[in-house]
Amino acid sequence: MKTRFEAEDDISFLSRADIVLRQTELLNEHIRYSRENSAYYKKTLADLADEDITIEELAKLPTTSKQDLALYNVEFTAVSEHDIADICFTSGTTGKPCRIAYTKGDIDRLAYNDMLGFVAAGISPADKVLLTCTIDCCFVAGLAYYSGAVKLGAAAIRNGINTLESHAGIIRTERPGAIVGVPSFLAKLGKYLQDTGIDCSSIHTLVCIGEPVRNRQMGLTPLGQKLQEIWPNCFYSTYASSEIVTSFTECSARSGGHPPADLAIVEILDEYGVPVPAGEPGEVTVTPLQVTGMPLVRFRTGDISFLIDEPCSCGRKTSRIGPIIGRKSQMLKIKGTTLFPSAFFTTLDSIDGVSDYYMEVGGDALSDEVEMFVSFHHGDAKSLKVAELLYAKTRLHVPIHTISEERAKSRIYGKSRKPVRFFDLRKNNL
Ligand SMILES: [Zn+2]
Repeated sequence: MKTRFEAEDDISFLSRADIVLRQTELLNEHIRYSRENSAYYKKTLADLADEDITIEELAKLPTTSKQDLALYNVEFTAVSEHDIADICFTSGTTGKPCRIAYTKGDIDRLAYNDMLGFVAAGISPADKVLLTCTIDCCFVAGLAYYSGAVKLGAAAIRNGINTLESHAGIIRTERPGAIVGVPSFLAKLGKYLQDTGIDCSSIHTLVCIGEPVRNRQMGLTPLGQKLQEIWPNCFYSTYASSEIVTSFTECSARSGGHPPADLAIVEILDEYGVPVPAGEPGEVTVTPLQVTGMPLVRFRTGDISFLIDEPCSCGRKTSRIGPIIGRKSQMLKIKGTTLFPSAFFTTLDSIDGVSDYYMEVGGDALSDEVEMFVSFHHGDAKSLKVAELLYAKTRLHVPIHTISEERAKSRIYGKSRKPVRFFDLRKNNL
């Protein structure tokens, strides 16, 4: 059984026709491998004829949901326990943690993937890369970025989740060229460096994970604006998930993340599972190629975004994926309007004086009921016109409760390693 990964030269710069040719070969290898080795796909793809399919015909195959992966987890593993090199658990923000098993080949594939992402973001072998994300806690992102930096020939500095003082000390002495981290933390770090006068002129690239810095129109979110003020023209957004074992990083054009052409085929699906044209939002659905531990076919990530198909000035010929504009499970239907919590969150992010917030959603199947809980550095909901600003953005009047910073903190950071600002109390929510 082939569980080794052999990196090719980046095929993203070839012509579209050549990319499609190579992707079609890899897709058919992937489907054959999945049917032969994964009990789940042996079952769900049993009716598929023994002939190669085209990339367009991929849309006829069944999709795989997060619930499928959680429910039939063992059936997805395509290798024996001896061939598993790393086990991680996806974060518990949408239900209980889900086990994902990687082979040595999958880890090498991740390293190749993140090396390509780092190159797209302007990082070179001469750079030192400061990692401010965790490499442990059964979390795959930190391992992927570490492996990518090493594979590129750069030097990784694994400072992980640590204090501002600790990172600042390393920036002063090691002078890294790049930092990988969560954008809200990188904004805090940048402000700290400014306030303390520490020289950070060596840093030319920030790789931003986990939080969107651009909006539906590809403009900057309030968080993106904050970063842009502190670190002008330094940041690159990246999208990834543990299940798809793939990351999509922006290039110098900053117009969407490039899926590595030999590692993933991306579709955007409407609510009926039908692919939508470029530009239209829908669910990001990924068929990761060349994965051997837990191969997936048409995995529905639950994240909402859109494809950007215009040619990219960097010369890569792949379609890009836009910013994540919401999670399918967090879609709100209020009085006939459909919107995502980010409409509320980005507004609150832009109000100076708001220190933190979370949302509770209740209601029945007919209409959702939203309540906002907000804490303040200074001012209050009335003086800062919170209700008016939220109404201007969403056209909805929602109850706003003022709470202490301690209460906000304990709810938001209480049970998860990631901040949770969305609490779903709806009946029948999936
Ligand atoms: Zn590009």
